[in-house]
Amino acid sequence: MRSNVTHRQTAWDLVPGEVLKEFNDQYPYLKKNMTTEQWDEHLFYQPCSRCGSKWKAKCC
Ligand SMILES: [Zn+2]
Repeated sequence: MRSNVTHRQTAWDLVPGEVLKEFNDQYPYLKKNMTTEQWDEHLFYQPCSRCGSKWKAKCC
C-alpha cells in the first residue's frame, strides 16, 4: 500500500514508455501525453535507424 494518495485513476507517467507508446498507437482517441523519460524509454526499444540492430550505446 502506497502512502501517497493519487486522485488520478491511472498514473500514466509511471507506465513504461514503450507500453504507453503502444497504447497511444492502438487507441489514438485515448492518447496520453508521454513524459520525456517515457519517450526516451520508447526510443530505447526502437531498432537503430542506420543498421537496424537493437539500440545500444555507440552503435554505428
Ligand atoms: Zn546501428
